[in-house]
Amino acid sequence: MQQNQCYLEDTYRFDILSDVIATGADEGGQWIALQDNIFHPQGGGQPADLGWVNDIPVVVKKQESGLVVLYPQAPFSPPVETKVSSVVSADARAYHAALHTAGHLLNWEMRQFGWMAVRGHHFPGESRVEFSAIDASAIPADRLDAAEIERIICQRLQKGAEIRSWFEGSTRLCQINQSEAMPCAGTHTDDLAKISSFSIKAIKFKKGTLRISYDAGHVPLEECHV
Ligand SMILES: [Zn+2]
Repeated sequence: MQQNQCYLEDTYRFDILSDVIATGADEGGQWIALQDNIFHPQGGGQPADLGWVNDIPVVVKKQESGLVVLYPQAPFSPPVETKVSSVVSADARAYHAALHTAGHLLNWEMRQFGWMAVRGHHFPGESRVEFSAIDASAIPADRLDAAEIERIICQRLQKGAEIRSWFEGSTRLCQINQSEAMPCAGTHTDDLAKISSFSIKAIKFKKGTLRISYDAGHVPLEECHV
């Protein structure tokens, strides 16, 4: 069953009219799947989108097959081929994309200090990236200066840079400017300049892992002309 994953194509597509292509039920309740799916399911360290189908709130999940399904949170069972209207929470989407994209940038900029990201978690209020030292020349964690890293990141954000994504086979790659292309299925801002703020909340080092906790914000959507 072919489903169009619109959220991978355009972070700023917040609504769409689409056909129901499948329905079912499992331990999460009754679900529907749409031909054109604008909802990001939880995965890759990013939370699921918040949204509505025909004004009914839905919980978003990805099945093992890759199909993204929606669980309406009120009785609603449109049959296959019904056209329904989807809306994603634009503010939550933009905030998630800013947090997630800032995580990519932090990973890239920490290379100059000798650290490479091993995992990321980009949920509101708890965003962090964990790093391993690339080699023995890494700047020791207790000599890393949060203010300096913040300054480097904020300069990059101010300058702006395009963020591109594309498929190679079934792998989606994303790239900030000339940095290394990374496999990723998350939602990104389309330019670094859309990230309005970045701050480091904590730098911690434990058992060989450096953890940088941070926050980031998206510029108001009404200023984006999306
Ligand atoms: Zn990403």
